[in-house]
Amino acid sequence: MSLFITSLNSGSNGNCYYIGNDKEAILVDAGISCREVESRMKRLGLQMQKLKAVFVSHEHNDHIKGIPTLAKKHQVPVYITEATKRHGRLSLGSDLVRSFSAHEPVTIGDLIITAFPKLHDATDPYSFIISCREITVGVFTDIGSPCHQVIRYFQQCHAAFLETNYDEIMLDQGNYPYVLKARIRGGRGHLSNNQALELFRNYKPAFMTHLFLSHLSKNNNCPQLVEKLFNDYNAGVKMIVASRYEETSVYHIRQSDKPALKVGREPVSYRQLAFSFT
Ligand SMILES: [Zn+2]
Ligand SMILES: [Zn+2]
Repeated sequence: MSLFITSLNSGSNGNCYYIGNDKEAILVDAGISCREVESRMKRLGLQMQKLKAVFVSHEHNDHIKGIPTLAKKHQVPVYITEATKRHGRLSLGSDLVRSFSAHEPVTIGDLIITAFPKLHDATDPYSFIISCREITVGVFTDIGSPCHQVIRYFQQCHAAFLETNYDEIMLDQGNYPYVLKARIRGGRGHLSNNQALELFRNYKPAFMTHLFLSHLSKNNNCPQLVEKLFNDYNAGVKMIVASRYEETSVYHIRQSDKPALKVGREPVSYRQLAFSFT
């Protein structure tokens, strides 16, 4: 069995990731309105009836704002920890609230969802991997640093939504106040392009086929720069920039028998690369 995945939106203005098989699906986060989730899924030919759950990574508004309406209107259970629900002030009918615990898989039809804690400045933040038989997809955004747990789970993924939040030079030279810059790069904020690239280059499993470059900053990043940076080292993995403004296509993730490709060129200086795009 295989998985169909898409980013319905990605960025500080709203995150929503769809992962499903031919019978059932889940969302990780719903930080865009219920109406937008509906219309984007419809455009992609994805059926609302297949949606069986929303898993909530943390309480920041860009991850939860569409959840109350979506859950109520479509009677979709919300998997959320007590601390996240309390701090997010989410109003959810108790009949729709489910809990989850780190490293304890939740089964929804043929989907198995496993949460693990992440380093982020929220109350009780988690990343997730979703498996269907032999295929695994990870959702790794809003992570301050690639801790050993991220590395461990990334190595299991056939596809992943991986945060590439900011270009280090753009953040450094941009006009954000110092406190905000420190928060973003402080180990419990967001992952830079370089941190994500290092994770990918060092720990990409041979069977990985797709990488969604996710949660890009509007002010401190540039989609073309991220795409070029990762494509230079893609090693045969399809790179998709997840947009802040629209859904991506639906990608079909299945077992691949492609051999792991060697990176075909020597690394160039990152500073050179960034310079050529700014
Ligand atoms: Zn976020
Ligand atoms: Zn966040």
